[in-house]
Amino acid sequence: MKILVLGAGVTGLTMGHLLHRTHDVTILEKESFIGGLARTKQVNGITYHLTGGHCFNSKYEDVMSFVFGLLPKEKWHLVKRTSAINLGKYEVSYPIEYSVRQIYQNDADLAFAVTKEFLSVSDDGNYSDLEQWFRKKFGNALCDLYFIPYNTKIWGRKPCEMDYKWVQDKLPIPDKVSFFQSLMDYRSDTMPHSRFYYPNTNDQSSLFEALADGLNIVCNEKVSSIKKENNQWVVNNTYMADVLISTLPLNELPNYIKDVPETVLHSTRKLKYNKVSNVLWESIPTEKTWTYQPLPDSIFHRYIHIGNFFLPQKNYTITECIGEKSFEEMVACGRKDPFLVRPLDYHISDHAYVVFDENRESSVSHIQKYLESIGLYSIGRFGQWEYFNMDVCMKQCLNLYENLKRI
Ligand SMILES: Cc1cc2nc3c(=O)[nH]c(=O)nc-3n(C[C@H](O)[C@H](O)[C@H](O)COP(=O)(O)OP(=O)(O)OC[C@H]3O[C@@H](n4cnc5c(N)ncnc54)[C@H](O)[C@@H]3O)c2cc1C
Repeated sequence: MKILVLGAGVTGLTMGHLLHRTHDVTILEKESFIGGLARTKQVNGITYHLTGGHCFNSKYEDVMSFVFGLLPKEKWHLVKRTSAINLGKYEVSYPIEYSVRQIYQNDADLAFAVTKEFLSVSDDGNYSDLEQWFRKKFGNALCDLYFIPYNTKIWGRKPCEMDYKWVQDKLPIPDKVSFFQSLMDYRSDTMPHSRFYYPNTNDQSSLFEALADGLNIVCNEKVSSIKKENNQWVVNNTYMADVLISTLPLNELPNYIKDVPETVLHSTRKLKYNKVSNVLWESIPTEKTWTYQPLPDSIFHRYIHIGNFFLPQKNYTITECIGEKSFEEMVACGRKDPFLVRPLDYHISDHAYVVFDENRESSVSHIQKYLESIGLYSIGRFGQWEYFNMDVCMKQCLNLYENLKRI
């Protein structure tokens, strides 16, 4: 079969890799490079992640064996996540709900309020929005201290204006017993990224190069027209295929499809997303992998100490903020923190975070039903309009690959 894959990010490359041995696969990518959101660039001999920090791990065994089949396990090193939350006068370890003893050392009254409210919170399972979900899970003191300000920053809107359903399997909620144990004794979390893998090349793009090996990828080819003629897909009036798999953002893809119903285009206009701006800095030494910045006096929501992903460790940090910010604004904010020594590079990512508002679920479902009706597969972070990490994108590809084998 002739198969066209649109987009050469992690999802498109994984899909291409899975299919290319048994099919005639072409990948079309609008940029001059592959890797999409997870792409890296060399700056002063170190790896700059243009978006985020991109650590890799997965709870899915089939994803781990797929990845280690591509790039053997001995070609990766394991990094222990050491993350902190900057509360202004002091920092506490992440996750905050296990760090009440650290809060106590700095502010005994606050630690008492956090404990009292966490242990007496009553969760009836009914939530109207994301803020209520946080309050019913963690109690007001932890919410006012961290969850509400941090989430307001990272989503660029108030949690009370957001849907809560997506967060349920993203954040493990400590039960009252484990919360109590953390007060008595040190307790570490077991979240999926409490340890993660990074390639020994000190560059995540080693994974994308392994995925891309042997694939037919056409870069600088922006998809702008899609139609079906005589049961064949025709893209950009040039590329023909029996099967079309898109990883393009769901709010853009329908615009390229000939004769798409106006109601579908209407749904695309309801989808919201956030851009991310970041600056790479030379920084002073730290043992941390990243630091959350919930306080409103900084425009950054997170520092990623990317140099600590490498072996040997280096002193570099990426500062991230939501939306389109200028280099000057970001540097001016960074200059207030002596930890950040020298800005080195700057980038704005367009589609970075899906916004989970009240329109997301119905709009995505409407668009996906239409795409299904015309036999076009849409997968990936923005292809499904979900909060997917790289491993979940790969998992979606493995699932679709199994389904395609049946047709
Ligand atoms: C700030 C941040 C931090 C993150 N950190 C991590 C992390 O630590 N670990 C982790 O596992 N995941 C992380 N992720 C998630 C990860 O980036 C994504 O899950 C993954 O990269 C998505 O891959 P994708 O291929 O689905 O989408 P994308 O990477 O967006 O790929 C889509 C591709 O389609 C191309 N394209 C778009 N329009 C067109 C067009 N018209 N024609 C042709 N090509 C087009 C794009 O150029 C792009 O290459 C993070 C994400 C963000 C935003």
